Amino acid sequence: MLKTAENTLDPSDWPAFRLQGHRMLDDMLDYLEHLRGQPVWKPLPQTVRETFRQALDEDPADLAAVHDTFMKTVLPYAVGNAHPGFMGWVHGGGTPVGMLADMLAAGLNANLGGRDQAPVELERQLAQWVRKLFAFPDTAQGLFVTGTSMANLISVLIARTALLGAAVRRIGMAAANPRLTAYTSACAHLSIAQAMDIAGIGSDALRVIPVDANYQMDAGILAQTIADDKKAGLTPFFIAGTAGGADVGAIDPLDAIAEIARSEKLWFHVDGAYGALAILAADIAPRLQGMERADSIAFDFHKWGQVPYDAGFILVRNGEHQLDAFASPAAYLMRETRGLAAGSPWPCDMGPELSRGFRALKTWFTIKVYGTEKLGRIISNTCALARYLQQRIESNPRLELLAPVSLNIVCFRYRSQDSDRINAEIVIALQESGIAAPSTTTLHGRLAIRAAIVNHRTTASDIDALIDATLSFGEMAVNKVQSPQPQENP
Ligand SMILES: *Cc1c(COP(=O)(O)O)cnc(C)c1O
Repeated sequence: MLKTAENTLDPSDWPAFRLQGHRMLDDMLDYLEHLRGQPVWKPLPQTVRETFRQALDEDPADLAAVHDTFMKTVLPYAVGNAHPGFMGWVHGGGTPVGMLADMLAAGLNANLGGRDQAPVELERQLAQWVRKLFAFPDTAQGLFVTGTSMANLISVLIARTALLGAAVRRIGMAAANPRLTAYTSACAHLSIAQAMDIAGIGSDALRVIPVDANYQMDAGILAQTIADDKKAGLTPFFIAGTAGGADVGAIDPLDAIAEIARSEKLWFHVDGAYGALAILAADIAPRLQGMERADSIAFDFHKWGQVPYDAGFILVRNGEHQLDAFASPAAYLMRETRGLAAGSPWPCDMGPELSRGFRALKTWFTIKVYGTEKLGRIISNTCALARYLQQRIESNPRLELLAPVSLNIVCFRYRSQDSDRINAEIVIALQESGIAAPSTTTLHGRLAIRAAIVNHRTTASDIDALIDATLSFGEMAVNKVQSPQPQENP
């Protein structure tokens, strides 16, 4: 039993609690140190799943016992994105430093909604670094959010208010009346359409611009579509380009899009969820040219930045527009100049959240401890590993590359008849084997095995393991399909 001091939740026996705390820390460090020896992912056994269907218990349990339950029922059955063999979707790997920093943040229990405190100053420091990194002016503002989905939504809301004026916040979209239209590529993340939906503009108002053979938005069609919409009496207001698309990792022609946005006076947003931080990688940064002209950039520190979940960020060129969209002037203009209620504007004036955790701390630790040069090299290295995977695919006649490798995402398949079914089977077999965990995507109607190399722990040996296992599971899947099935009713 955790003995607590009377009427508080603190331990009555701090030395015993401290010992248990150290054990919990050690278990987590053991987990990270020996990760490579474990399967990437293990299916959750039904018996373990059942343990999460218990009734609420009003009696206290021993901390050590609860921790033991965590070690047995939670830790072994996570998604596995910390593991070097994890290549599914676009998931960051996290770091031991980020983990420790998050512990400090939890201990402090800071609420970053506002008030005059060092944690808010630290978040402002991060915003300043981000401004410099993306060559934005000093008047730009930045805010930590859960992730790029939220950052994309915030950018749509700011762009809407910048166009229609602050009154739209009161009278709503219907009364504001103009029929707004926005533009993004056919390969854009679903969160852009969702942002249009949540903002009350409607996802139908999002024009989906086709991509070229390299999966990049066709800027010519973009310009034509905007012109057509204007002629039809609509009000174009927002273009979202993508830097590092979720399907194949393509980078839209950001400079050309920036030019169109400038001449048409539209808001230019960049969804750089994972790709924007390639600005840290000397060999990739030049390919992000045009991003520095954006009105807003959404990105995640929790993907290529390796900061533990969650740590998204929204950077806005004109900080006044951000305040116009979210601040309640009655509140923020009347704040104090001294005391705890000083230091306006506050983070809560720049987004929809009031209570906010200290995401900035794990990001600050990650940047300070590893340094931007090393973080950039990690990003370059994941791209080099993707090129190595591409070579291994291209040198094996049983494999086929399905999309150009732009950054760190490789889409390929095992050549066979009934290829979609066989490759879906291969991906499940890979995941269940615990050897590697890629995911799938569909390209031109064909199912692809999709490997996104994001994790700093991934090495060439993990790529080799993925290829070897793909070949053997491919052969097994083909044999299974070809061998005559036992007949149930002869
Ligand atoms: C991951 C991703 C998103 C969504 O970001 P979250 O942090 O998961 O909300 C949006 N766009 C792209 C291109 C992504 O890769």
